[in-house]
Amino acid sequence: MGRYDHAAYVSLTMEFRCNLKCVHCMIEGTMDRLAPESDAHFEELLARNAREKRWIGLILTGSEITLRRDLPDLARRARASGFRHVRIQTHGMHLGQASYCRRLVEAGVDEFFVSIAGSDAATHDALTLVPGSFERALRGLETLDAMEGVATLTNTVVTERSYRLLPDLVDRLSHLRRLTQMEFWVYFPMSERDEKGLVPRHGDVLPYLREAISRARAQGRAVEVKNFPECLLGDLGDALVNGQPELHIDPDFWTEFARNGFYQCVHRDACASRECLGLNTAYIEKFGLEADLLSPISRRWQRTSA
Ligand code: SF4
Repeated sequence: MGRYDHAAYVSLTMEFRCNLKCVHCMIEGTMDRLAPESDAHFEELLARNAREKRWIGLILTGSEITLRRDLPDLARRARASGFRHVRIQTHGMHLGQASYCRRLVEAGVDEFFVSIAGSDAATHDALTLVPGSFERALRGLETLDAMEGVATLTNTVVTERSYRLLPDLVDRLSHLRRLTQMEFWVYFPMSERDEKGLVPRHGDVLPYLREAISRARAQGRAVEVKNFPECLLGDLGDALVNGQPELHIDPDFWTEFARNGFYQCVHRDACASRECLGLNTAYIEKFGLEADLLSPISRRWQRTSA
């Protein structure tokens, strides 16, 4: 189960530029068209939360939020308005500079959600297409690991090119004491077809994902898996957490997102899962309905909380 309550956080998309070129980027085709949330919207949200106390945490995200030079200022304003936590979602490249980590922490950022694509420099950099990106992200996580009051989280996109790396990736980060949660997001292409050949077959991913979940939990990490059939996870099904904080983003994003066509499963009517997204259109187009692989969860085994 996740460590953080998504309902207690709100996400603001404040930057749509990025300086990595990750092969699995889901918004590369829309980045130029989507507009970041305005400063006025940011201020409005701070004022609203100061009045209503709806959320305890603000997540500043983007494509790459650290490209905003005023990021420390945004964090400072958020904390001054009453947010108890400010998280940034980042590829971690800029965290490689210890002085930048310190600036962000001093400004009030206390949670760092860092994307780790591979299990070492060679595999990570081959997926981000930027040499040195793994070393810088890892150095950032290690710098933050030595700082009081900071929590880190990681996110790994699970694709045809990365699923075999998951257990080693967990081991590679095992020395980090402040790494509270590892998330594994199974790739979806924001399209009806897997044009880039990155959608992996669930049956192939399963043993690697199970091993990664087990190893991370053995190290005391919380784990969240996104977009994977709950029935396949068996006794690890409670790792599936598809919920997300309320996201404030350009409305055009949702038009693209709808193309995924989630919630398709031949067993849907018989299945008691409340968490599962089933299959999506691109997956079915590539691998079929997987009717024999998937099996409906009976009400008797349904988890009581998510
Ligand atoms: S049977 Fe279908 S809806 Fe139920 S858990 Fe499996 S994939 Fe998800």
